[in-house]
Amino acid sequence: MNDSLFDVRSAILLGALLSLLQATVLASARRDLPRELQPAATSWLWGTALQGCAYILFSLQGRAHPMFAIVVPNFLLVLGLSGYLRGVRLFQGRPDRWGLLLPTVVNTLGAFIFTLMYDHITIRYVVVSLCVAWVMGLTARHLAQQRGILRSASASTLLYTLIATAGYFVVRAVFYALSAAPVPTLLTGSIELTLTALFAALVPVVCTTSFLLLCTDRVRRNLERIAAIDHLTGLLNRRSLESAGERAVHAARREAGQRLAVLVVDIDHFKQINDRHGHAAGDAALQHVSNQMHAMARTSDIVGRFGGEEFVVLAWIDRAQHLATLAERIRALIESSGFRHDGESIRFTVSIGGAVLEPVDRDFDDLMRRADRALYAAKAAGRNQVRIRDPRQASSASEALEPQTN
Ligand code: GH3
Ligand code: MG
Ligand code: MG
Repeated sequence: MNDSLFDVRSAILLGALLSLLQATVLASARRDLPRELQPAATSWLWGTALQGCAYILFSLQGRAHPMFAIVVPNFLLVLGLSGYLRGVRLFQGRPDRWGLLLPTVVNTLGAFIFTLMYDHITIRYVVVSLCVAWVMGLTARHLAQQRGILRSASASTLLYTLIATAGYFVVRAVFYALSAAPVPTLLTGSIELTLTALFAALVPVVCTTSFLLLCTDRVRRNLERIAAIDHLTGLLNRRSLESAGERAVHAARREAGQRLAVLVVDIDHFKQINDRHGHAAGDAALQHVSNQMHAMARTSDIVGRFGGEEFVVLAWIDRAQHLATLAERIRALIESSGFRHDGESIRFTVSIGGAVLEPVDRDFDDLMRRADRALYAAKAAGRNQVRIRDPRQASSASEALEPQTN
């Protein structure tokens, strides 16, 4: 078997080379990752480098003492794979645990006992294979617990690689446990050993590439989230509200039944809050409105800050009257709640304009425009009022406004 194209030693050295190259790539890529991902990447980097070192020592079998060519590399191999397990946990924000080292301890003891104390290569292969499968299986389990894991291509590639590797090593353990034939060694060589070494050589390559993609995926999602959220209130900002509004208009056109409605909520005389109590008080007022509206909204409603002191609610309603009721509850809640800032009690009111999506609305902008007109009417009528565009007359040339009692 040693005259085959790829003998076991070459395959193992290829594994060493690929692992160390991957570790180098990761070492330079790691510097560009945000601080919160650095611990996971460091664990992954060491895990890959340790596997590379393990393969170099494995390749010395027959040339170095079994302690250095079998026991130590077995220790390094499973320790390196545990670096992946720890890396996934840190990526998910889970704490370190000493228990993660258990497969490494069992594997090292197994390799030590069945090499130096009681030389039994079959038991050693079974123990090592099961320990490798153990760590890879645990890593896969942790990864699989992540929400929405299969929506990410990089995460699912990593997951399937881990599962395939764990499965391969379980099959290998069973195969050696049941096989009556003499067990091959690196010196005698075998196709199975060469394949295992090649397989193991590819694991750090696929896993590390997927891990790096997983990290860039996380960075991208974070940036998208920051770009979609208003930093003061944590509500959706104008850009994402408009996209959500467009999507909702499309959904409303497809599905009969529930109707899409919009409320525009504007703080009355907000400039005076800034002028009298300072800009920080104005900010606190915006947060107060945001909290109240958030508390009032149903899970299906979308609440956002459209800009300045103007908020928007996108709501699905059964009847137009429901919109007036929701608007009136928001108005009354803000009027009665007030908030404290720097020991001062500050009270203010809001004016609200609303409209229900009608066939005349070509898009979300049209719907917003009608709600805005209702808001101006509420302001003109003396503020602290609710006005809803009357849906019955919305399609006629002279749109009417229904005053709401408050
Ligand atoms: P009206 O009742 O007609 O709505 O009057 P108003 O004072 O509420 O409206 P106006 O448009 O005159 O003033 C809005 C003010 O909101 C002006 C601007 O300085 C302030 N503003 C906009 N964004 C922020 C913010 O993020 N924080 C604070 N503190 N003030 C803001
Ligand atoms: Mg205002
Ligand atoms: Mg305004």
